[in-house]
Amino acid sequence: MIAIQAKKLSDFVASVFSRAGSSAAEADRIANYLVTANLTGHDSHGVIRVPQYVRWKNEGVIVPDQKIKLLVDTPSLAVVDGGFGYGQTVAPQAVAVGIEKCKANGLAAVTLRNSGHIGRVGDWAEMAAAEGLISIHFVNAAGSVLVAPFGGVERKFSTAPYCVGIPRPGKGPVVLDLATSLVAEGKVMVASRGGKKLPKGALISPDGQLSEDPTELYGPHTPDGPRNHAQGKGAIRAFGDHKGSGLALVCELLGGALSGNGATETDRRFSNGMLSIYIDPARVDIDHFFDGEVARYIAYVKDSKLAVGHDEVLIPGEPEAKMRAERGANGIPLTEDTWSSIVTTAKSVGIDEAAIAKAAG
Ligand code: NAD
Repeated sequence: MIAIQAKKLSDFVASVFSRAGSSAAEADRIANYLVTANLTGHDSHGVIRVPQYVRWKNEGVIVPDQKIKLLVDTPSLAVVDGGFGYGQTVAPQAVAVGIEKCKANGLAAVTLRNSGHIGRVGDWAEMAAAEGLISIHFVNAAGSVLVAPFGGVERKFSTAPYCVGIPRPGKGPVVLDLATSLVAEGKVMVASRGGKKLPKGALISPDGQLSEDPTELYGPHTPDGPRNHAQGKGAIRAFGDHKGSGLALVCELLGGALSGNGATETDRRFSNGMLSIYIDPARVDIDHFFDGEVARYIAYVKDSKLAVGHDEVLIPGEPEAKMRAERGANGIPLTEDTWSSIVTTAKSVGIDEAAIAKAAG
């Protein structure tokens, strides 16, 4: 394991994307969001993605420096096409449209289709919360069908994340941000690279056996070689039995079907689709009740008698905030495999040994 300070890691990753054809602004933005995922503890959506993103760019799956197209644009509704741009570029543009419309009208809905990987969906809820807005996001990942529905063994869903952000004055927002699969695909990737092991029964084999072995998803693979889920035959399981499976279905229908991103084709170019709904609490809360009641209710929930093995009741968003403070101070831990795969990619775009040694040192 090595640990690299966030700023140093972000600068290094930006230099990779800059060499891989992105403008300096885009390269910085991608690096920032990836490193933020690491800072918040979501290594699955952090810099481990660098090799995959650069490969996607080289294969034409992702297009650098895209500007969104508004296919429908009414005062409270937008249908946005991301043109297969980096999610870190087109998602914030789509969210900015939603924020603007919500501030003008109190309520807005924005669909996004054909976006590159939008990473940690919590980033987009945090962006809306920073403007005082509640947001709800239903996401699908077309071309990345990996999850078996409750009662099935075949891959039918993507890891289809769902996210809700609720702002709190003077405090970090409540951000519930979850993959509807038992684990996000990136967590299988992290486990396959020697990182945190998968929880028991996270995967299911074609003959219905529960498993924690990443080989079920990726097939046989070398430590720092690519991970291709087309090589494996098993599936990730949906979380929460029929309930999580139902939420995954809804994410596919709203994030995938309603957005026009697509939910049925399995063998296609990767793209995230998202339906985002924005609500301005200031417009709804005519009695000035909401902020106080949110604070009171959260205090009431946290004041629960603790279960064995727990030293605090956390609310969604708190684990990420704690991890951000810890990793901000102590650096971001990366497994040798993860760092070596990033180094291989960095060399492939022409980054020299001195710059690599400087980043790791
Ligand atoms: P997770 O299981 O780590 O966390 C899920 C939620 O539970 C979070 O809101 C977190 O704050 C909360 N939480 C965690 N521990 C808690 C505790 N002890 N007490 C109370 N709340 C707690 O997240 P995940 O399901 O593994 O998802 C990881 C990331 O992957 C998310 O950011 C998600 O958006 C992202 N993702 C993205 C895609 C994509 O296609 N772009 C697909 C799948 C997942």
